[in-house]
Amino acid sequence: MTPDHGELLYEGKAKRIYASAMADRVLVEFKDDATAFNARKRARMEHKGRLNCQISARLFELLEEEGVPTHYLGLAADEETWMMVKRVEIIPLEVVLRNIAAGSLCRETPIRAGTAIEPALLDLYYKDDALGDPLLTQARLRLLGVADDARLSAIEKLARKVNAVLVPFLAGIDLQLVDFKLELGISKNGDLLLADEISPDTCRLWDSRIEDSNDRILDKDRFRKDLGGVMDAYGEVFKRVQGACPNPRNYL
Ligand code: C5P
Repeated sequence: MTPDHGELLYEGKAKRIYASAMADRVLVEFKDDATAFNARKRARMEHKGRLNCQISARLFELLEEEGVPTHYLGLAADEETWMMVKRVEIIPLEVVLRNIAAGSLCRETPIRAGTAIEPALLDLYYKDDALGDPLLTQARLRLLGVADDARLSAIEKLARKVNAVLVPFLAGIDLQLVDFKLELGISKNGDLLLADEISPDTCRLWDSRIEDSNDRILDKDRFRKDLGGVMDAYGEVFKRVQGACPNPRNYL
C-alpha cells in the first residue's frame, strides 16, 4: 500500500519526492530505475528501490546514533520503498570521499586502481546533470558561491565523520568502502543535514572475502561495467547490513 502523500515535488533518476501532511517533512520513494554515465545508460532493476531504501535507512540510523545529523526520520511501515525525511534545500554539490582509488580518479589521473588513499581524498563536484556534474577547484567553488568557507569546512567535517563511521562498520561485515558520494541539505532551521541516500548506487563496496577484482564488486560498478549479478550484489550488501542492523525504525 502506498503511503498517503501529497503532490510530486521532484523526480530524480532514482527517487521521487512527495509532499507529506507536514510542511517540513517529505516522503521519498526509491525507484527501480538504474542509470549510469549521467543517465546515458539506463535499465529497470526489480527490487533496486527496496534494497537501496532499506540499506539507506539502516546506514542513516547508524550515522544518527554516531552523531551525524541526517534528514532521515523513518521507513514507511507497510511499503518497503518509502521513507519519511526532513525537508531540506539540497546544496548543489556532490561530495565524494575516496579511501581507495577507483572510477574517475583512475581515469583522470595516473593513480592506479586499488591504491589506498590516506587520509581520504575529498572531491567536490557541481551538481548539474546538464553540465555533467563537473569537478570543482577551490577557486571555482568560491566563484560559484555555492557555499562559503565556513559551510565548506562544515561539509568536509561531516563527510569525514560519515567516512569514520561507515568504514569500520562496513569492515565488520566484510565490506571495503572504496568511495562514496554524499549530498547535503539545509533544513528549515538552518541545520546542515546529510540527505539523499547511502546505498550501492552511491558507494563503491568491495567484498573483502573475495580476491578477484571483478567478483568482489558489490555496487553500481556491476551495472556500469556490464558484470551482471547487479541485484544479487545489492541483495548481498542488504543481507549483511540487515544482519548488523536488523530493526530500522518506522515512521508511519
Ligand atoms: O565516478 P566516480 O568514480 O567519481 O564516483 C565516485 C563515487 O561517487 C562512486 O561511489 C560513485 O558511485 C559515486 N557517484 C554517485 N553519483 C554521481 C557520481 C558519483 O553516486 N553522480
